[in-house]
Amino acid sequence: MIGDAKPLAGRHALVTGGGRGIGAAIAAQLAALGADVTITGRDPARLGVTAEGLTHLGRVNGIAIDVTDPAAIESGFARAAERSGPITILVNNAGIAKAAPFARTDLALWDDILRTDLTGAFLCAKAAVPGMVTAGWGRVVNVASTAGLTGLAYCSAYCAAKHGLIGLTRALAMELAGKPVTVNAVCPGYTETDIVETTLDNIVAKTGRTREDALAELVAHNPQKRLVKPEEVAEAVGWLCLPGSASITGQSIAVAGGELM
Ligand code: NDP
Repeated sequence: MIGDAKPLAGRHALVTGGGRGIGAAIAAQLAALGADVTITGRDPARLGVTAEGLTHLGRVNGIAIDVTDPAAIESGFARAAERSGPITILVNNAGIAKAAPFARTDLALWDDILRTDLTGAFLCAKAAVPGMVTAGWGRVVNVASTAGLTGLAYCSAYCAAKHGLIGLTRALAMELAGKPVTVNAVCPGYTETDIVETTLDNIVAKTGRTREDALAELVAHNPQKRLVKPEEVAEAVGWLCLPGSASITGQSIAVAGGELM
């Protein structure tokens, strides 16, 4: 697509959890590439502010959808499609991260993370993929994590959910390989968002370490010795959505400064 400034013009992209953090950066990237973007999340006020802030890039609308609510997904996706046409790009980005030692990982915490980070993506894919098949073109990008590719202490539920999301990515990619629909995952390392802010607060509260020491511990995972920027994750997502990325499917691409090789 050399020379095509708006390669996603005419495409409707829905980004779950698009109101802030990595999701908002992805929404900006896809709008800049020409897509008509719907951002979703639980907080309508935040969605409104983010959508408004991205209007200089293109059309961005917010719809409140909780990804743990199947009926809200069904009606919200239908409303989005009525407004902007079939959803041909789905970015399953909504997610929560809660750390706990395995002994203190109870069923409530397990269910909470699995329901949001894995079942939510499953339900959103169920709602969007048939329209992609009918439209004859589609991209699903799941925002997993390096925790989906390797084990991480004190994160058993989160690791299980993100490994599951990568399994879903691979299985769906295989099933859709005969159609012009690709399914991939991006796997960020520690990235500058609210999730990392909360993680730092927890480390400080639970260990008594300083914030600088806590940050140094997180950054030590990354050979580049820094946090990833949301925009860097968004660049990878945008690239996977390009028409020229049609042969890339079933992949899990780490955006993590070389944390995993
Ligand atoms: P943030 O906490 O900044 O954003 C999380 C987003 O998910 C928010 O927009 C939030 O919207 C949305 N969300 C959470 N729960 C629900 C729900 N039940 N229904 C709908 N939306 C929901 O985190 P990040 O931007 O960092 O995280 C984005 C993704 O990236 C997540 O999947 C996360 O696991 C992944 N990731 C993040 C890393 C990091 O270090 N930051 C590293 C690796 C992966 P709202 O609250 O309005 O509902």
